[in-house]
Amino acid sequence: MAGEGTGAVGRVALIWDEAVASYDFGSGHPLAPIRVELTVDLIRRTGLVGNGVDEVRPPEFHEVDLLRLHRDDFVDTVRRLSNDPTARASSRYGLGAGDTPAFPGMHPASLLVCGGTREAARQVWEGEADHAFHPSGGLHHAMPDHAAGFCIYNDPALAIDWLLEAGAERVCYVDVDVHHGDGVELMFRDDPRVLTISLHESGRYLFPGTGDVTDIGGEGALGSAANLPFAPGTYGELWLSSFDEVVDPLIRAFAPEILITQLGCDTHVNDPLAHLALTVDDMGTIYSRLHRLAHEVCDGRWVATGGGGYRLVEVVPRVWTMAFAEMTGRTLPVETPMGWQELVVARTGANPPRSFHEDPVTLSPAMREQAREAAHSSVSAFRSLVLPHHGVR
Ligand SMILES: [Zn+2]
Repeated sequence: MAGEGTGAVGRVALIWDEAVASYDFGSGHPLAPIRVELTVDLIRRTGLVGNGVDEVRPPEFHEVDLLRLHRDDFVDTVRRLSNDPTARASSRYGLGAGDTPAFPGMHPASLLVCGGTREAARQVWEGEADHAFHPSGGLHHAMPDHAAGFCIYNDPALAIDWLLEAGAERVCYVDVDVHHGDGVELMFRDDPRVLTISLHESGRYLFPGTGDVTDIGGEGALGSAANLPFAPGTYGELWLSSFDEVVDPLIRAFAPEILITQLGCDTHVNDPLAHLALTVDDMGTIYSRLHRLAHEVCDGRWVATGGGGYRLVEVVPRVWTMAFAEMTGRTLPVETPMGWQELVVARTGANPPRSFHEDPVTLSPAMREQAREAAHSSVSAFRSLVLPHHGVR
């Protein structure tokens, strides 16, 4: 059963408010808020909320805190374009044609996302909850001075910054999104108090093109950034064994006080924007790994956010519901609730998934072999470049 071997789960918080769905780049954009709305609906209909599991509204997030990590000219530009998306702005701010178009209200919407992730971190750090999940968060590509990859303000980084201000001395950020968690890594690459770990499709094949295994952090903080790149076709078993071989021992050696995990699910075999080959069941296994680590290494202090994931109906709602079920220690039915299926049809016209499980992926022997070789070379490079900085031989 979910949560077994992880010790009694205390209070768990789901950070949500319909207002967060205003982080919306408009129709046709991959990062559509309906994926989170359908997630929250599925979480409610599967009985995960209640009896110590509470929904919490994201509190306000003030600009003064934003400016701790984001440059004022960038924030000014976001605010200006938020009021008038047609206004002119330098392309260096990353807003406009392309991945991250300006939209009306994007400044307050982005602040709300930041408020949600920081609240998740605050509740866990201050002991109000053991675990907290903010499915609308996880905008890990946002940079100090520009937006990128659908991300405007970097909510995971701002939550980590808040934890450091609150006295945390060892924070571990694990990013399982298919895209390299470049923004969070950049903001803490010189800070040995923050270990950022990103497992992703290699930048040779995928945006943002960074996250090579040789990127291990800045001077004075070597080993505080860790990257495990994979080749296209990397399947669940291989992803998990690579995690077990080098990421698990790294986290145990760093012994963080709190774990923050970005749970992007664009690693799925059918994701339209990437090329890995995980199933929803594989992701469920990843979540149980992270849950166990949170209990065994940092007294259960586990904060999680959403992230990427562009199969809006088929994948995102199921896997983030599985993540929350893992957090609450509650069991999900095999089938998705009929009421939810009807809602999916009503709102999207799409064919809703009937089960929380999927058949294993079949790949060509050549693809499997290529993925295995690439994973093995990443794992051995990771072992020799990163682990020695944490006393792991
Ligand atoms: Zn992604």
